Amino acid sequence: MASALDADGSTVRAIAMKRTPLTRRTPLAGGSSKLTTRKALPLRSPKRAGEAAQRASVVLEVKHRDGWACRAAQAAPEVVCGGRLEVHEPIPRSAWPGVHLLADHAVAVCAAHHRWIGAHPLDAHAVGLHGFSWERP
Ligand SMILES: [Zn+2]
Repeated sequence: MASALDADGSTVRAIAMKRTPLTRRTPLAGGSSKLTTRKALPLRSPKRAGEAAQRASVVLEVKHRDGWACRAAQAAPEVVCGGRLEVHEPIPRSAWPGVHLLADHAVAVCAAHHRWIGAHPLDAHAVGLHGFSWERP
């Protein structure tokens, strides 16, 4: 057993700890545990599936209102239009939950301009194609 002198000179004896490993008394949860059961997530949630018809009508309304043409073509002429026509929410869904069902806050843009808007939010904001959460009406 080891010993040492304390600050006041008294002898301090180190206590040897018994190192017996812990023993498990109950078995680990088996393969039926929820943690080990894996199942693929659905491609879209029941909530989104319920909105699908409403969203489809909003998409159709926006494309028809905008004349089936890219609304960003004049605003960002440095980008060449390309790809299919898509519906873009200037204030993104992440900043405004439910905006994807509001036709008044969406514009039709081509896929190329849609990618450009996503990659250049500040440039797109300067020409009115991107908004921020604090700009919600
Ligand atoms: Zn375009």
